Amino acid sequence: MQFTYQSYGALLEKLREHGYEAADYESWRQKGRCVILRHDVDNDIQKAVEMARFEREQGVASTYFVLLTSNFYNVFSGESCQALHEIISSGHQIGLHFDEVRYPELAGDMAGIGKKIAEEAEILGRAIGQSVNTVSMHRPSKEILEADLQIPGIINSYGKVFFKDFKYMSDSRRRWREPVEKIIASEQYEKLHVLTHAFWYNRQELDLHDSVARYVNEGNRQRYFWFKDNITDLGAIMPPEEIL
Ligand SMILES: [Zn+2]
Repeated sequence: MQFTYQSYGALLEKLREHGYEAADYESWRQKGRCVILRHDVDNDIQKAVEMARFEREQGVASTYFVLLTSNFYNVFSGESCQALHEIISSGHQIGLHFDEVRYPELAGDMAGIGKKIAEEAEILGRAIGQSVNTVSMHRPSKEILEADLQIPGIINSYGKVFFKDFKYMSDSRRRWREPVEKIIASEQYEKLHVLTHAFWYNRQELDLHDSVARYVNEGNRQRYFWFKDNITDLGAIMPPEEIL
């Protein structure tokens, strides 16, 4: 499968064709054959917005998990808030993407981690103006995967139910580990849990190297324009032609 909107659209079409109705982390309980579509936003909220628009055009709703502790974006910034509101108004849900590595002092302390998740969800809720009641883990440790963490008021997408009662498939590191289209077509599973990363999807296919290189190099330009809003006469200090 290619990492383009067109092939993601074909995947959604295949799901529809085989009777998988899009569900979220609550509504699946009322549905028969269904699929939970999930996106982890590891570094680029703008790519998430593009995916959210595409999904709206395709008539599906999914859940976007965003980090509160990322070095790449700040959910309280104006640009991010606008982006997150667009995702919500496109009919999608926002959940918390949680990076346990941020709290090395809590390594192995599942109760402590549970409390941090509740705390971060509350803060993220304030940023987006509505409550956040789902969490997914960013690069989860074996301990957190096995813990089946129960957090009051929050659905843990790494809870046992989403792996035991669902067939889970993911495009982590821009690679499907299984033939996702074949598995859908086989109708072997009643419930699917599909994680994709909007970051990897483009109009035209880009390989792993090129998608990373483009993101890193575009960062210079973006940083320049953010600087422009914060310093008078940036062009006189460093003309834009000097951006590498
Ligand atoms: Zn992640």
